[in-house]
Amino acid sequence: MDFALTDEQQLLLESLDELLERECQESYIAQLDLAHKPPTSFRQAMHEAGFNSLGFPEEYGGTPCDALTLMMLAERVARQGLNNGFGLELLQAMDILEFGSPEQKQQILGLLAAGEVPFALGFTEPGAGSDNSAMATSAVHHDGTVTFNGTKTLITNALQSTYLLLMAKDPGVEDPRKAISMYLVPMDAPGITTNQLDKIVWQISDSCEIFLDDVTLPESCLVGVKGQGFKQLMRNFEVERLMIAATCLGLAQCAFDDAASYAAQRVQFGRPIGTFQLIQLKLTDMAIKLENMRNFVYKTAWMVDQGLPLKSQGALCKRYCAMAGFEVADEAMQIFGGIGVTVGARVSRLWRDLRGHRFGGGTDEIMVHIAGRQIVKDHS
Ligand SMILES: Cc1cc2nc3c(=O)[nH]c(=O)nc-3n(C[C@H](O)[C@H](O)[C@H](O)COP(=O)(O)OP(=O)(O)OC[C@H]3O[C@@H](n4cnc5c(N)ncnc54)[C@H](O)[C@@H]3O)c2cc1C
Repeated sequence: MDFALTDEQQLLLESLDELLERECQESYIAQLDLAHKPPTSFRQAMHEAGFNSLGFPEEYGGTPCDALTLMMLAERVARQGLNNGFGLELLQAMDILEFGSPEQKQQILGLLAAGEVPFALGFTEPGAGSDNSAMATSAVHHDGTVTFNGTKTLITNALQSTYLLLMAKDPGVEDPRKAISMYLVPMDAPGITTNQLDKIVWQISDSCEIFLDDVTLPESCLVGVKGQGFKQLMRNFEVERLMIAATCLGLAQCAFDDAASYAAQRVQFGRPIGTFQLIQLKLTDMAIKLENMRNFVYKTAWMVDQGLPLKSQGALCKRYCAMAGFEVADEAMQIFGGIGVTVGARVSRLWRDLRGHRFGGGTDEIMVHIAGRQIVKDHS
């Protein structure tokens, strides 16, 4: 087994390091977090440097890139202390490139080229979180149009996005798996209103309730095949979960680095706290968790690149990295003592942002729901 970076990976990571140093310093991230603003100038810089087209097929102006390298880049951006700064939009856009009409592809690629967030994913509803079969937002097709009614909630980046990738149900179809379709809906369509939710995590991403009240659009807003929306969404979801795991790894590494440096210089009882075995025990267990997270993410990405079926691997990896990542940040905060809970300490932001990853992309418990069933199936 070869754990060395390839020359290409080395070069990409070095060039990303330079860009992060120039465009994404801690003062910039901390200001965005306080102001609850998105990292627009960083996104633009990433786009101009070609990072945001990595992983896109060449026919769409992209540069093919393997999953392992993409995860290393996501880890590196998160290690800078920036949450969700790389890759998630790219992976979501793959849904449109795979299933969208030529017009939809053009619309989304144009927005990506401008360094903008093309769409938010509208899946969760007040009555349908983990149980998406309870989805109530309706899509009624009639005379070449489709009318939407319902409410979505906890939708990330809704205010920054031009479109909503809406999951909605045909009320005439009983089987929920066959009733759900995917639609690309302009956020400024008549009948759409939003209510921003004030949350304690992911401050650089807005979160919204979205109300759809008789929103009527041409049927051409359907993405892919009617009734196949759930299946289409799940197609790239495993890799999206892996990207979340890589992000958790980077954020947790950042918290660990801060805590280890602090332990080396903070003096109590006449000596650096890093010389106390209780603090060393924390740092040691944190280092083990980071090593496990990295191995899990890289191995899973390698499986994707080999075309191997992930089965329960994606859910196991997301569950482990979201939970272990938060545990690392929690111990890092403990090492900082009281100053760790102040807004000025970076560890407090990492702690908050890692907590959010235990919900987004499916909760810790739902990862058990997915992986557990597969494990039992594989052994029966
Ligand atoms: C930061 C953040 C960003 C998000 N971004 C988006 C987004 O962009 N788009 C979008 O559509 N959604 C988004 N979500 C919503 C997210 O997908 C949901 O929060 C998640 O799916 C859980 O749904 P819920 O919050 O309704 O919890 P519920 O489903 O009501 O669950 C409540 C609790 O019960 C547990 N539970 C539920 N079912 C079971 C079961 N069968 N077995 C054991 N335990 C169970 C859950 O794990 C949880 O602990 C986001 C959420 C967060 C926090």
